[in-house]
Amino acid sequence: MTTEASKCAVYEPLISGALDGELTQQEQQHLQLHIAECAKCQRLYTELEGMQQQLRAGIAPTHPLHQPPVNRAVRFWPLLGWLLLLLGVLPLLGYAGYQLLTDPQLPVWVRLAMGSMILGAVVLFIYVARQRVMAARTDNYKKVKL
Ligand SMILES: [Zn+2]
Repeated sequence: MTTEASKCAVYEPLISGALDGELTQQEQQHLQLHIAECAKCQRLYTELEGMQQQLRAGIAPTHPLHQPPVNRAVRFWPLLGWLLLLLGVLPLLGYAGYQLLTDPQLPVWVRLAMGSMILGAVVLFIYVARQRVMAARTDNYKKVKL
């Protein structure tokens, strides 16, 4: 003679198997019959089903292969900002570099500050150029895959 509790102990492991689609048709039928008459297992089934759906919904968008395409319009404003900044900074840097080479009266701290700015600009330029090249490669790769 089996009690309700021991029946549940048999069916509980089948519930997650059913949600993963791992049960045989017979096991599935037995489980459905038990769930139909057992509120406890029915609740467990619904809970697990909900959790599984949440898990899928949560994982799918962050999966690397399922990332939404980058919105190109979003890139416009930072690009404009960088462009304006460069338009202002580059002539200043050029002027500063010229002064650095031709004006021996320039205080040491101004020389150091200007040298640091010019060096920083060069480093940033190389870094950004490198990223552009790598991004272009990735784009080409994506096009090939599609
Ligand atoms: Zn049960």
